[in-house]
Amino acid sequence: MGNITFTMVKPTAMRKGFATKILAKITDAGFKIQALKMMQLSKVQAEKFYEVHKERPFYGELTDFMSSGPIIAAILEKENAVEEYRKLIGATNPENAEEGTIRKMYATNIQENAVHGSDSDENAETEATFFFPKNERFTDDGKLV
Ligand code: ATP
Ligand code: MG
Repeated sequence: MGNITFTMVKPTAMRKGFATKILAKITDAGFKIQALKMMQLSKVQAEKFYEVHKERPFYGELTDFMSSGPIIAAILEKENAVEEYRKLIGATNPENAEEGTIRKMYATNIQENAVHGSDSDENAETEATFFFPKNERFTDDGKLV
């Protein structure tokens, strides 16, 4: 099991001013930040990132949304990070998310669901590399990964 996951604070949560609250919840849960930045995805970058969902009916809307404003991207480190983080964020649809999860607290609806979280160790690596070069990733004691 891997020790990193990749997350984004999605545009609606950014617009609503939830980013710092979400980041505090993440670090309070014991995740270390290996890399962090604020940026806006182009439509093409959003399409590439969500390519696995290309055939889904919401692909166009999702990639419009994800490129509609700034996001925060981060690589998070913790033992069993992928699974632990998905527990912290809760179900995709906030209506089904457990009390106290990030999506329950900060999501607007199933699409604008506050945050992204990787779904496997392999995708965590791919997504981390998509956003950050090696020289922007640091261990908890300040050394390059
Ligand atoms: P993410 O990959 O963003 O962490 P997830 O793994 O919980 O979310 P996926 O099935 O991978 O969910 O869907 C990717 C994203 O697509 C969701 O987070 C959400 O923003 C959007 N999405 C998923 N299902 C729907 C839907 N039925 N209608 C609209 N948007 C949806
Ligand atoms: Mg997913």
